[in-house]
Amino acid sequence: IKKIGVLTSGGDAPGMNAAIRAVVRTCAYHNIECIGIYRGYQGMIEGDFKEMGPRSVNNIVNKGGTILKSARSKEFMTKEGREKAYQNLVSAGVNALVVIGGDGSFTGAEIFNEEYGFSVMGIPGTIDNDIYGTSHTLGFDTALNTVVECIDKIRDTASSHNRLFFVEVMGRDAGHIALNAGIGAGAEEILIPEEDLGLERLLESLQRSKASGKSSSIVVVAEGEKMGKNVFQLKDYIEEHLPEYDIRVSVLGHMQRGGAPSCFDRVLASRLGVKAVESLIEGKTNFMVGLIADKIVLTPLEQAIKGNSDIDRELLRVSEIMST
Ligand code: ATP
Repeated sequence: IKKIGVLTSGGDAPGMNAAIRAVVRTCAYHNIECIGIYRGYQGMIEGDFKEMGPRSVNNIVNKGGTILKSARSKEFMTKEGREKAYQNLVSAGVNALVVIGGDGSFTGAEIFNEEYGFSVMGIPGTIDNDIYGTSHTLGFDTALNTVVECIDKIRDTASSHNRLFFVEVMGRDAGHIALNAGIGAGAEEILIPEEDLGLERLLESLQRSKASGKSSSIVVVAEGEKMGKNVFQLKDYIEEHLPEYDIRVSVLGHMQRGGAPSCFDRVLASRLGVKAVESLIEGKTNFMVGLIADKIVLTPLEQAIKGNSDIDRELLRVSEIMST
């Protein structure tokens, strides 16, 4: 391998810059050229490349977002789009790719490898933590810290007014952010897509909580519908059945994707970047690098895409006990 291309694709996540830096510097360390590909697969199709030396990634380890920009590319989902991308890489002398992104980006990488035999290595970058083959995706830890900080603030106002707050957090189809941040912030209830609490039980639990002397409560709700209702419909339902509650909804939204990466995400990004490049040098391809039991390990991309990043049952139990 003489030249490695690195790109960020799909939703951005804190820690992506630290991973780009790690890839660029590991290439330099091993005397391999590195180019940055702007705007994910779309930039690959348009030949939007830039040579990256070790000094080109100064002062980015601490920055959220991605200096290479991210994009979703419909064109890369077509054979013609991928052919253009391949020709651009060949013209630029690139022999291998590091793709920092989520399962959609990995699917694109896998198809590209299948069609052209191009060496690819994935680094999981998404705040949702919904990828199999790693206990933590890049950005997850930072997002948790952001959410916990926000809920702490919401709790101040909730307890001043004896209010019940529904706080909606990101995670798409996964409840990892809700469950972990909910426990961390001391939420009374956590509603996640993996576990159907049932509306009756939610009502009972809130009633019990009020009867036990709690005057304010926080319910963390993972985005999407729970028990057939979105967060606003849930609020209406509870208000109808428990009129004694004064309920507010707070949707945290995109702030969860931004901000300086936590130390954990920076260290993880650095370790994953080193492993990704060194694995490509060893001739490995079509894997994702991830963290399992504090070791950096490779998981076949196919498994990473199709596998289920199950919710931790122990955490569910902890959360239940904590709401006593
Ligand atoms: P996030 O989890 O943050 O959404 P992601 O990587 O899953 O990140 P997607 O939008 O699903 O984000 O995918 C990113 C890009 O990967 C797509 O815009 C597309 O260019 C490429 N991609 C996804 N699926 C395919 C596919 N089946 N074939 C080719 N390319 C794909």
